[in-house]
Amino acid sequence: MDYSVFVVKYFRTFGMLSLRYLVFAGFLYMVFYVWKRRDFVKYKIQQKFPDNPHILREIKYSFLSLSVFSFVSLVLFTFRRMGYTKVYTDFNDHSVAYFIFSVVAFILIHDTYFYFAHRFMHWRKIYPYVHRIHHMSTNPTPWAAFAFHPLEALMEVAIVPILVFLMPLHPYAILLWVLYQTGMNVLGHLGFELFKSGFTTGTISKWHNTSTHHNMHHKLVNCNYGLYFNFWDRVLGTNHKDYEREFEQVKHRAKQAEKELETIGQTTELANG
Ligand SMILES: [Zn+2]
Ligand SMILES: [Zn+2]
Repeated sequence: MDYSVFVVKYFRTFGMLSLRYLVFAGFLYMVFYVWKRRDFVKYKIQQKFPDNPHILREIKYSFLSLSVFSFVSLVLFTFRRMGYTKVYTDFNDHSVAYFIFSVVAFILIHDTYFYFAHRFMHWRKIYPYVHRIHHMSTNPTPWAAFAFHPLEALMEVAIVPILVFLMPLHPYAILLWVLYQTGMNVLGHLGFELFKSGFTTGTISKWHNTSTHHNMHHKLVNCNYGLYFNFWDRVLGTNHKDYEREFEQVKHRAKQAEKELETIGQTTELANG
């Protein structure tokens, strides 16, 4: 058997995953924490910035997770070559409606899987060995998106093998899920709240998670477990009781800062005649 194909596949996947991580997390980090830090600081959820060793730890563990994800992808690749998965590459095998359904179903199933797996990882007998590393970031940056212990990385990615054996999925459906998942993961760890005031109480918008939601999970730990949607946390009563208030406080602070800037601008204009 020619093993070189597996080695190439592993490093190609690792390269692609690393690129995705660097583009999403790196770009947002540079914008919010470096280039536009002064403009965006009013949206910062916790009014302090993490130090460099904290960020380096997030990056180190994220790359370790990416190496685990690449290994799982290699195992799936092998099963696919043997014809065991339900992945299909010919668009004609299923309708467009099914393609859309499969993306939505993937996201909804993953959201449910994540919520319950996350609660399991907070079980005190499991937490120290699996999930503690992720919670070392009490004031996370986008680099924390994949900062997991390898065991947690395995648990996080396990939804992919489960689904590819159960439902027909086109690689593009998986790719769309990957993009949404990465975007939301990075947003959850961004550290800045960008959604508008009223988002957490809007009839529809309240069902979608915010950056503040996951930031509070990192700061306060035993609350706000959800990933994409605020469904399970609402239904099972695990949202922090001050979630909506905290969100509005961040928005209020931003508004105050804007007003102050406006006043300074007007005063300077008057002074300059
Ligand atoms: Zn957690
Ligand atoms: Zn997190």
